[in-house]
Amino acid sequence: MPQQPLSQVPADATWDWQEVGSCREADPELFFHPQNERGLARLRRDRAAKAVCSQCDVRIECADYAIRAREPYGVWGGLTEEERERVYVRIALAQFPRQRGEGAVAAAAEISEAVSPGAMGVVS
Ligand code: SF4
Repeated sequence: MPQQPLSQVPADATWDWQEVGSCREADPELFFHPQNERGLARLRRDRAAKAVCSQCDVRIECADYAIRAREPYGVWGGLTEEERERVYVRIALAQFPRQRGEGAVAAAAEISEAVSPGAMGVVS
């Protein structure tokens, strides 16, 4: 995933997990919304990105990085921008996760739910 200019890269960030991410074979435009994308188009693109993430072996590492870095844009680890925003609101600023693994712990429920059938629009 490309680095975003507004992110706050953690001091202990590593990038080796990106080498095996499923998105390496996917269209990068799936993961970042074009300007002014709204409604159904955005929902469909986010779900398509989530489908890629759901098959990814480094989804936890990716989500952990995105939470710790407060990545402002894109789908990371199956979490959309809005889903990460809900995590940020929940986490007190003083306790904001910065060490590797802390983001995954802090957002465990959201990471688990992010690629659930319901989140991906699958009706049972
Ligand atoms: S979890 Fe998704 S965004 Fe992250 S590396 Fe895997 S496929 Fe790419």
